[in-house]
Amino acid sequence: MFSLDQIKEIRKQFPILERKVNGAPLVYLDNASTTQKPLAVINGIRDYYQLNNSNVHRGVHTLSQEASALYEKSREKTASWFGVQVGEIAFTSGTTESINLIARGFLAPRLIPGDEILLTGMEHHSNIVPWQMIAEEKGAHISVIPVKKDGTLDMDEANKLMHEKTRMLAFTHVSNTMGTINDAATLCALARQKNIPVLVDGAQSAPHMQVNLRELNCDFFVCSVHKLYAGMGLGILYVHPSRIPQLHACKGGGGMIKEVSFEKTSYADFPLMMEAGTPNVEAVVSLSHAFGFLEQTGMENIRKHEDALCAKLIEGLQRIHGIRIIGQAKERASVVSFVAEGIHPFDIGTLLDQQGIAVRTGHHCTQPLMKQFGLPGTVRASMGMYNTEEEIEVLLRGLEKALKMLR
Ligand code: PMP
Repeated sequence: MFSLDQIKEIRKQFPILERKVNGAPLVYLDNASTTQKPLAVINGIRDYYQLNNSNVHRGVHTLSQEASALYEKSREKTASWFGVQVGEIAFTSGTTESINLIARGFLAPRLIPGDEILLTGMEHHSNIVPWQMIAEEKGAHISVIPVKKDGTLDMDEANKLMHEKTRMLAFTHVSNTMGTINDAATLCALARQKNIPVLVDGAQSAPHMQVNLRELNCDFFVCSVHKLYAGMGLGILYVHPSRIPQLHACKGGGGMIKEVSFEKTSYADFPLMMEAGTPNVEAVVSLSHAFGFLEQTGMENIRKHEDALCAKLIEGLQRIHGIRIIGQAKERASVVSFVAEGIHPFDIGTLLDQQGIAVRTGHHCTQPLMKQFGLPGTVRASMGMYNTEEEIEVLLRGLEKALKMLR
């Protein structure tokens, strides 16, 4: 856990944490949705607009060259952050777009009727719907690795469900609803043995741990940088070098071509082939600054801090009568879902907000998981590097107050 002095220094870097909400100091515990931004990122974006703003890749003038250099520098940083080569990283608009691009640009042309796409029961809708769309078009099927009562995957079933008809495995590294850290290394290794391409949804793992993609050895890895303390509307798409020649262009526009004529267009190589249109340069620039900030703070330190907060929250929740935590995985990130007997999560969220406490309520875009647990939704508290023990205590007290009012 960070010392009081360390956490004070970290919090100073996030100006939004000083604001009040409904008359109370903001307690921001919705980091799984998006994280707040440090000054390094905010100032980096301001500097970019004040000094270098221009469209990238298409200009000979100085500003365009500067913006392009910043853009490509960020790609280099991203590659080295994840332990891969720069030519393996594309920028997209988010995790959602990255998955759609792989569904359309990699899997769809290979699918034939009767094929299977293997997902898990804890996927975010972003990692269900794009696969379902192409499965429907091609007469393929979705199969699902079951989630056990404790919120972990049934790994025996996972193994059985990977067979000769399986054309793709796509799973979330960390559950955005329960915080479960899935055994990604084993799943990737099993899929590799059976020659099944794997996409890992890292939207919730990248913010909490240092992910090395060479070690993980997956075919595709996707995440959203707004959950990584950087700007909105930008995603990362990693593609293993062996899969790059198997990609098809699936979103046409400027920037992704070699040559265009009305008769025929030839496409640029990956990653530009996947980056049609003007990209979110501002967010790409912000990402370099976010990585710099994360490097300084240290991912290992962040993880230990968040783990300690998570343990404290779980312990506190277990002491409150009528609270049930959804998901008891031992390996978990700092995302905790819970329900209170007989009370709708929305009512709890509203009463917490009145006390300045931001949590998320609802199905968290995991309706199939909610259905399995027989719940309309949960209350979800998710911690980031700047949260404190005191804030966990405020949440627990606030929750008890809310429950008294609602019972
Ligand atoms: N997958 C998971 C596990 C997520 O948590 C999220 C965001 N909640 C997404 C995908 C979608 O991310 P985005 O909306 O940034 O594309």
